[in-house]
Amino acid sequence: MAIRNIRTENDPILRKKSRVVESFDEKLWQLLDDMKETMEKAEGVGLAAVQVGILKRVVVINVGDGLMELINPEILETEGVQCSAEGCLSLPGKQGTTIRPMTVKVKAQNRNGNWCVYKGTELKAKAFCHEIDHLDGVLYIDKLASKDEIEKFCKD
Ligand code: ZN
Repeated sequence: MAIRNIRTENDPILRKKSRVVESFDEKLWQLLDDMKETMEKAEGVGLAAVQVGILKRVVVINVGDGLMELINPEILETEGVQCSAEGCLSLPGKQGTTIRPMTVKVKAQNRNGNWCVYKGTELKAKAFCHEIDHLDGVLYIDKLASKDEIEKFCKD
């Protein structure tokens, strides 16, 4: 395993669309292992392959209850809203308020190519949305909540 370099803010690759994974081979497994190690070293809860310079639809997430490897992930359903501070390993030292669904159901392939369905709430739901956005070149700063939205959804 190896730590890979995390691409940051001004790197144009972060705005590119990642390609569908078709080969579930050793090269993919190496990428997944390296992404896990890179995410852990950076103390992140999620990492998309594009963030280490690979334009493949591959995501790793660990919100503290175990590693998830999502290949070709797609959101199936969302429910509710949550308002919270969001950050990104590619935008170090920054955060912003976003509105995301409270519950998200996704389908994704595992490292062997088998489809699985996952459901997440709160932080995990936010991580699903954030990482899947990366695969389409979207960053959380594109989705910052407006003042009106904050007033409407962020009352505590
Ligand atoms: Zn990110």
